[in-house]
Amino acid sequence: MVKVNENFAKLPANYLFVDIAKKVDAYQKENPGREILRLGIGDVTRPLVKPVVDAMKKAADEMGYAETFRGYGPEAGYGFLRETIAAHDYQNLDISPDEIFISDGAKSDTSSIGDIFGLDNIVAVCDPVYPVYVDSNVMASRAGDYKEGSGWSKIVYMPCMEENSFLPTFPKTVPDMIYLCFPNNPSGVSIPKEQLQAWVDYANLHGSVILYDAAYEAFIQTPGVPHSIYECQGAKTCAIEFRSFSKTAGFTGVRCAFTVVPKALQFGGTSLNQMWARHQSTKMNGVSYPVQRAAEAVYTEEGQKLVRENLAYYHKNAKIILQGLQHAGFTVYGGVDSPYVWMKVPEGLTSWQFFDELLKRCAVVGTPGSGFGTHGEGYFRLTSFNTTENTEKAVQRIVEQFT
Ligand SMILES: *Cc1c(COP(=O)(O)O)cnc(C)c1O
Repeated sequence: MVKVNENFAKLPANYLFVDIAKKVDAYQKENPGREILRLGIGDVTRPLVKPVVDAMKKAADEMGYAETFRGYGPEAGYGFLRETIAAHDYQNLDISPDEIFISDGAKSDTSSIGDIFGLDNIVAVCDPVYPVYVDSNVMASRAGDYKEGSGWSKIVYMPCMEENSFLPTFPKTVPDMIYLCFPNNPSGVSIPKEQLQAWVDYANLHGSVILYDAAYEAFIQTPGVPHSIYECQGAKTCAIEFRSFSKTAGFTGVRCAFTVVPKALQFGGTSLNQMWARHQSTKMNGVSYPVQRAAEAVYTEEGQKLVRENLAYYHKNAKIILQGLQHAGFTVYGGVDSPYVWMKVPEGLTSWQFFDELLKRCAVVGTPGSGFGTHGEGYFRLTSFNTTENTEKAVQRIVEQFT
């Protein structure tokens, strides 16, 4: 009889967003006229910019004529897009187009990158964390067993707390695979150059690999904060970088991302660049031509200008949240280089208790920090993805209720 992958049975059900939806529905039923303001949205809301839509339409038209029709494209992406990314995003960092692999998303890539690593590697993640890194390693059998309260037996957790400015510190056990995400989801904090350099040095010293998720790179405003891990000396021998057009340019529904695997990244004489190329050509047939043309258009002068305007819109909302909450006496983090604001819940309340309180008193919805890991307890994530009007209203209600 067929044996299924038993690791799936170990995964605890993740009811975070289901539980939130249930509570919000119940509240709405009890308060039919009350406008609920959602600051828990984890998806972009600004539409695609015109040059992107135009490029997608033009490419779609090309597909309708024999002369310009395209079938299977290169598995790792079209040269035009890989070259544009290398020239634009890695201008002075000496990353070549064949070190860039186009894909349908950073979620796919961060979850399948484990395929090229041995199963007995020790994995380290931040706590709180984007759940994909953990769950994909559970499926691959690298996580051990789950225990309520302490998490997975074989995973090394790096607590990110107020005490360490939400930046991970070197764990007692030296990990082989280190997942880092900056600017961070959920905490919204970015990592200063020196700290990231320290991680690069650490990884090179111990022969570890850093899996660097830079999905929110475009939100960085603070001068000096690294946009790419390759700004750090020696990162090409220890790091893989993941980026996505999802949050940068509103591609969450369009699907396009890329992963950088430098040729200098080798372990035991094996090139990870070649392994990833083999992985992708075995497991995928590339991203659709119109979508890659759309991604290319993000880099045009007009595309950049308009994409920056959308990012500025989110930044403005984040600032409204930050300032409003500070005014109401809350302690808040993130929200500058990120669409996420990480607020400390009032003394004596859990993340979920605060969720209930905020819903009841303000009809405002956020995400309890405990949903992202043990060390997310006591925190609450608000996002800048709603409209400015709703963001202002939500903040006003919070200020009225809590001051
Ligand atoms: C949204 C997000 C991504 C992007 O995923 P896509 O599959 O490219 O849409 C990656 N990492 C983190 C931490 C995210 O929050």
